[in-house]
Amino acid sequence: MFSRHDASYDQIREGVGSLCAAYPGTYWRDLDRERAYPTEFVEALTDAGYLAALIPEEYGGAGLDLKAACVILETIQRSGCNAGACHAQMYTMGTLLRHGSEEQKRHFLPRIAEGSLRLQAFGVSEPTCGTDTTRIRTTAVRDGDAYVVKGQKTWISRAEHSDLMLLLARTTPRDDVEKSTDGMSVFLVDLRDEIGKTVTIRPIETLMNHSTTEVFFDGTRVPAANRIGGEGQGFWHILDGMNAERVLIAAECIGDARYFVERASGYAAERQVFDRPIGQNQGVQFPIAEAHMETEAAALMAEKAASLFDDAKPCGAEANMAKYLAAEASWKAADVCMQTLGGFAFSTEYDVARKFRETRLYRVAPISTNLILSHVATHVLGMPKSF
Ligand SMILES: Cc1cc2nc3c(=O)[nH]c(=O)nc-3n(C[C@H](O)[C@H](O)[C@H](O)COP(=O)(O)OP(=O)(O)OC[C@H]3O[C@@H](n4cnc5c(N)ncnc54)[C@H](O)[C@@H]3O)c2cc1C
Repeated sequence: MFSRHDASYDQIREGVGSLCAAYPGTYWRDLDRERAYPTEFVEALTDAGYLAALIPEEYGGAGLDLKAACVILETIQRSGCNAGACHAQMYTMGTLLRHGSEEQKRHFLPRIAEGSLRLQAFGVSEPTCGTDTTRIRTTAVRDGDAYVVKGQKTWISRAEHSDLMLLLARTTPRDDVEKSTDGMSVFLVDLRDEIGKTVTIRPIETLMNHSTTEVFFDGTRVPAANRIGGEGQGFWHILDGMNAERVLIAAECIGDARYFVERASGYAAERQVFDRPIGQNQGVQFPIAEAHMETEAAALMAEKAASLFDDAKPCGAEANMAKYLAAEASWKAADVCMQTLGGFAFSTEYDVARKFRETRLYRVAPISTNLILSHVATHVLGMPKSF
């Protein structure tokens, strides 16, 4: 198993790259066709210890920083693979490590690190509230030594492939709290014994293969011992997870963007039309060069955000900006790559079309571009709030 002692960023890149080489385009194409989960790939990453990168060594993980986790996810995407199947285990760590009790960490983290317990589901979104998280309707009502959860979550990815879900629910009605962000709590819900009883999971068919679902809770009893952090403080606790998530998603987008730029420039140098490589035409070169520059600029912002997070400094603005810039860069690079490959881009055999569909998600989730622009306009630049 890999540990922090053999983990320079270059070594991580090399190790993850060679693991990914065993999962070529044909593997992902077959899964995409069947809409199946990449179980073997996720197991290989778990066995190699990469998914436990952020778990401290004393709890069985590699004890690495967010930057290292970014290198892992970026390399997966750049190799043509898809980390969407397993990235949640990393981004939920911000909440668990910073707000979980010592007892919770001792109980859960070693099992997550060794792979006997999967924490791949993050339950925030609901059908009726959209991006306004303070209006979630899922409730958790205290009953003795447990909370009883009722409600519906939507777009909960990997719920069918996870033992645990990090769940945000209202413990005090919105009307009874001073600030709308108060009164929500975070729980680690063990789904294993509840599916088919108090928990129902319904897959949602999507543009790309993403194992996303609707999840219904009908009186699920969650031990009070599984509440992470203070009651009513959940919104603030998940923000730590969300900032990490935004930086990690930025890293994935940068990996995608580099994949597209490499595919496009490689193809442009080889493809002969009118007796010369298409890449000799500046009309083909310039958009690829532009996509490259935008990718590298986004990578600098992501690195800055990761450093701030690792130093436990405020990083909300940088995490949001990194996610925005990286998602825009990967989408642009994806489009440029499609254009460069011409008709061949549309053949599934080239994998570019699959990656094109996959990377589109990140302009919407986990937070859409407009909401980031609004955050920057109001929180960073001090303009009046529009909502
Ligand atoms: C494939 C997939 C996987 C997902 N996985 C998960 C998961 O595992 N866990 C989870 O909790 N969630 C998940 N999500 C949900 C995702 O985080 C949300 O879809 C995303 O945050 C956007 O929320 P919404 O869909 O409710 O859009 P809405 O909030 O309904 O917004 C719709 C559009 O309106 C815009 N908009 C809304 N309000 C404003 C405003 N005031 N000003 C300007 N524009 C505005 C938005 O930018 C967006 O473009 C997933 C989503 C998808 C599609």
